Amino acid sequence: MTAEGPHWPVEPGGLRLEVSFSKEIESLRLGAGQTFHGEGILAITKGLLQSGVAYVGGYQGAPVSHLLDVMVQAKPYMDELGVHVEACANEASAAAMLGASIHYPLRGAVTWKSIVGTNVASDALSNLASPGVKGGALIVVGEDYGEGASVIQERTHAYALKSTMCLLDPRPDLGVMVKMVEHGFRLSEASNMPAILELRIRACHVRGSFEAKDNLAPPVSTRALMENPAGFDYAKLAHPPVTFRHEKLKSEERIPAARKYILDNALNELLPGRHEDLGIIVQGGLYNALVRSLQQLGLADAFGASEIPILVLNVAFPLVPEQVAQFCAGKRGVLVVEEGQPEYIEQEIATLLRRRDIQTRLHGKDLLPLGGEYTVEVLAQGLLGFVESVRPELVEGLAGASTGSARTGLSSAKAWLAGNRERRAAVAAQLDKPLPIRPPGFCVGCPERPVFSAMKLMQQEIGPVHVAADIGCHAFGTFEPFSQGHSILGYGMSLASRAGVSPMMQRRTMAIMGDGGFWHNGLLTGVQSALFNGDDAVLVIFKNGYSSATGTQDLISTPGSAVKEMTADKVQSLTHTNTTIESTLQGLGVKWLRTVHTYHVDKMRSTLKEAFTTDFDGLKVIVAEGECQLERQRRIKPWIASLLQKGQRVVRVKYGVDEDVCNGDHACIRLSGCPTLTLKDNPDPLKVDPVATVIDGCVGCGLCGSNAHAATLCPSFYRAEVIQNPKWHERLLAGVRSALVRALQPA
Ligand code: SF4
Ligand code: SF4
Repeated sequence: MTAEGPHWPVEPGGLRLEVSFSKEIESLRLGAGQTFHGEGILAITKGLLQSGVAYVGGYQGAPVSHLLDVMVQAKPYMDELGVHVEACANEASAAAMLGASIHYPLRGAVTWKSIVGTNVASDALSNLASPGVKGGALIVVGEDYGEGASVIQERTHAYALKSTMCLLDPRPDLGVMVKMVEHGFRLSEASNMPAILELRIRACHVRGSFEAKDNLAPPVSTRALMENPAGFDYAKLAHPPVTFRHEKLKSEERIPAARKYILDNALNELLPGRHEDLGIIVQGGLYNALVRSLQQLGLADAFGASEIPILVLNVAFPLVPEQVAQFCAGKRGVLVVEEGQPEYIEQEIATLLRRRDIQTRLHGKDLLPLGGEYTVEVLAQGLLGFVESVRPELVEGLAGASTGSARTGLSSAKAWLAGNRERRAAVAAQLDKPLPIRPPGFCVGCPERPVFSAMKLMQQEIGPVHVAADIGCHAFGTFEPFSQGHSILGYGMSLASRAGVSPMMQRRTMAIMGDGGFWHNGLLTGVQSALFNGDDAVLVIFKNGYSSATGTQDLISTPGSAVKEMTADKVQSLTHTNTTIESTLQGLGVKWLRTVHTYHVDKMRSTLKEAFTTDFDGLKVIVAEGECQLERQRRIKPWIASLLQKGQRVVRVKYGVDEDVCNGDHACIRLSGCPTLTLKDNPDPLKVDPVATVIDGCVGCGLCGSNAHAATLCPSFYRAEVIQNPKWHERLLAGVRSALVRALQPA
């Protein structure tokens, strides 16, 4: 192994280390008689504490990261309550943590991003759901579906069905959401089923208020320990032959018990409306969008009171057949509003109506799209189709049209929808080619960007290589100007995903993984497997120090806070920070291992080339080290501000392009993609090509200079030091220099 140091651009003392959640933590402390104001996901967190949760775990991911981030930072308060908080290594370990509720009367909650997280957790979830739970087990999943989602579009619902877990889908109203957390634990205990609470992106971020209650210290906790373990009970294992009994228990006892609890406690909401011959059954999470679309149609007032009766399914599984049948019976038609595919709820309702010979017409996916987010516009279109089909007289212009707001609303909604279609068509007709896409990209100064520059240069020399990409910020390397990455099979899965390609390819293959992915899954799924099978491949691990893409959470390989807090002198003498990744790889038997600072593009290019051309037959790992710039800036900005406030000297590095030298070729931009390296009009009236320019956001990461050197670009880049609060001799020197430059300028 070779290792160069220092690799970690740490900055000196008195530093703010991370995003502070102190305001949120104060909200968690609210008690009876006080009002909580804030976001949905924080309300859920407060609901957990009001429910006497004993342990909380999870793996961060949008849109539920906030829950775990706040809990982790609130550890001192959690200790006061006796609540254990665990930042789990991945979703599987979070799901397995719920095993505490199998034997013990402990209420536990875990959280992650679905569907990707639920996929990872599914083994433990099956083994949890089979024996069932004694203490309430709640899984808060961020249903990352629809516009703004960042994962595969699948439904968590499938997991609830296959493993027989309750699925709560609360109406996005803070009071309802908190109530469903509290009921979720009780429902889980009443039915012995773990309960999933799914929250769509908008529900997590919906703002509102609710009357808080006192937090409950759990009866068994880190402050009130159990004396003895539970007695041995084979039935609590997910092992044959008891698994056969578990299957019977699910259908014969647990689901009926859950249904009784749901009915007894009115978890689903029945909202009346004057058109009693119509009905809408909606997933709780879609209620707000549904009401807004009803308003568009004049079928709901400004306060959300609907003219069509609505059954709000705050529990999407199990359904209560009698409740659904009663709601549907005697109506002309019912519309099921269920987002995503397949339409599990609609199919179940169709079956239960058919079995009871209830002749109500059932609509759903015949009028609403099978996939995609149900926005207000989409729902309005479906609702219009429903009303036209079941009560055509409500629509103006048709025979027997009624009077009043509904008719006017339906008419104007039709015009609104038609107008939207026309506007889109008109815009499309005016465009002779598609608008340029604006994908997300690396932050300014990101340490991962230079590696992709080096990869481009390396492939110029050895030819194109198969690149197995992964989940994480480095996935931005799949966009222009890099376009690197043939597949993404899951978080930490890159090395494993090239195992079938490597043996079929003349040239070595390459896998890219972040340190987050490495610890999440890549170490075992990829590295261990590759070593065991003697695979000949190249792995690049981005060691930026955090799980950056999920919000810069700490990892086992994050430099300790002692390092981050070091004073200037100590930091500058620092040569190593955290080498847990390197020592783990060595311990596992990786023989070819290099650690390279990411901003050294030429060194990175030559190391990559070496990995692809060496005679060494086996796994070659390059640890690409460079601290996440987002986290670095969060740390150094307040520190620099404090220095400036004290009138102290601060030097800021900035790169620039000499516009007289730039030839307008833009190779630098194609090799960098940094948003602050951009274009401006050529100041030379004889040249038409715009020149490159560095705008104000440049953080002086050095990539521009490093690329210019590694790729032997034109010599137009310069490095400048901007000195704030300069010393007297620096002012003098600057004055002399300016005078000299002025004197040398032509008159
Ligand atoms: S968050 Fe960090 S690692 Fe991710 S793109 Fe930004 S600087 Fe790069
Ligand atoms: S030095 Fe270049 S790559 Fe780095 S932040 Fe500045 S413009 Fe961007």
